[in-house]
Amino acid sequence: MTAAVAAKATQWPRCVTPPAAAEAWRHLRGTLAGMGDPPCARAPVVWSSDAEDDQAAAAEACRWCPALGPCAAYALAANEPAATWGGTVPADRRPARRNERNTP
Ligand code: SF4
Repeated sequence: MTAAVAAKATQWPRCVTPPAAAEAWRHLRGTLAGMGDPPCARAPVVWSSDAEDDQAAAAEACRWCPALGPCAAYALAANEPAATWGGTVPADRRPARRNERNTP
């Protein structure tokens, strides 16, 4: 990294994880630690896909995952804009993101 790029990098907005999202992430990690591989670990490409049929299949498979609740809670708290999390797809979470932006 050049000095000019490094100087510019200090001016970029910092990524701040909301406290609720950090807590939800810790809860999800704890849940995952107590179980075997979740379904998404076996087919990560499907869970990260933008294709509606992939997202529908991933969301259906999430229904059987013991981490469903904590995973969905994290996705909502973190405002995850992409991928399937806890049985929710980006379109499911969009209203929550819209409401958050409109909250003073
Ligand atoms: S609920 Fe979360 S951890 Fe479980 S399969 Fe779905 S995305 Fe993976």
